[in-house]
This record gives sequence, C-alpha cells and structure tokens, in this order.
Amino acid sequence: METTKKPSIVADDVVVSLEYTLKVNDEVVDTTEGDEPIQFIQGHENIIPGLERELYGLKVGDSKSVRVLAKDAYGELDPDALVDVPRKEIPKDIPIRLGVELTVRNEDGELLDARIVSIGKDTVQLDFNHPLAGKDLDFSVTVVDLRAAEAEELEHGHVHGDDLDEDEDDLFESEDFEFEEDEEDLDDADEPEGKKD
Ligand code: ZN
Repeated sequence: METTKKPSIVADDVVVSLEYTLKVNDEVVDTTEGDEPIQFIQGHENIIPGLERELYGLKVGDSKSVRVLAKDAYGELDPDALVDVPRKEIPKDIPIRLGVELTVRNEDGELLDARIVSIGKDTVQLDFNHPLAGKDLDFSVTVVDLRAAEAEELEHGHVHGDDLDEDEDDLFESEDFEFEEDEEDLDDADEPEGKKD
C-alpha cells in the first residue's frame, strides 16, 4: 500500500531520478547514458546548486538544457589548491605520473581528491581543485522518476540505496597523509554534488 502520494513535480524533499549528459566546451565529460539515472533529494544540496534550482517544477518525462557557470558549479580555480608534497611522502604503491589521481587524508581526517600535475626532483605538485573547477557546465537532463523521500533519508539529507556508501578500502597510509588510488575517473561527476554519508 502506498502511504505517501507520488509527487507530480520536482520540489523540495522529492527524490529525483535524473538522466543527464554533461558537456564542457561541447565535449561530453559525463553521462548517465547506458547507466542508471542518478538519484538525489531536491533542496538538500545533493547536487550543484546551479543545476538544482533549474529543476523545480519539472515533471516526469520533462527534459531541459541547463548551463551552469563555474561559480555555481565547482567554483573557480583556486591557486592555493596547488600543493607541493615531498616525493618520499607519496606511498610506493602510487605511480608518480602526471594525471594520476589519489585521495589524501588531511590533518582533520577529511578525504580530499587530488591529481598529480607536476613532478619535480624532490617534490610532486598535487592539484586539489576539482577537475571541473573553473569550467562552465552544459547539462541536458531528463526527469525519469519522482518519489517522496523517506523520513530517514530526509534526516540524513541523502538518498539511501545499495551502492551509495563510501568505500574506504584500499586506503594507504604515510607519515602525514593517507592516500588511496581512485577507482574511476570523474567519479565525482557521477554525482554533481558532494555526497556525504
Ligand atoms: Zn544515510
């Protein structure tokens, strides 16, 4: 028995299933095509604000093109997010090559994604900017389903599913930082947001 009425439009506290294609400079950088749609709770900053606010009022089956400027997406490039790390602090498991992505645990215990952007004799430069920082994003989206969020989902502020938990396996440790190798490229772009558990 359905106890809650199925929402008819995208509104706060509605779980939205969304197909999307993301282009930057006319190139597809991410898409749900051939994959499951993403799911998120509208109005809880699960996705980037510039996209979220354009979805209000859409119905199942509606499509829309949305341009999101960098400042409303992943922000402008931050020069302070380039950090030199002594080479010896990078665990041996991680190949020191340009473009290699890794996750660093900082002093506060937060996991931060970085890429190797420069390799010196004794140091490696890590870029903690999001790969899409500084870029305007062109989304084509289609709403494929809407449902009311469960009370527990609202309490947590995110959708509950089978595979949404952060996997902290394969965590490497070093003196000052812990590192882990990223499993897929543009993992974050699967969820234009910053999903936290
Ligand atoms: Zn939760």
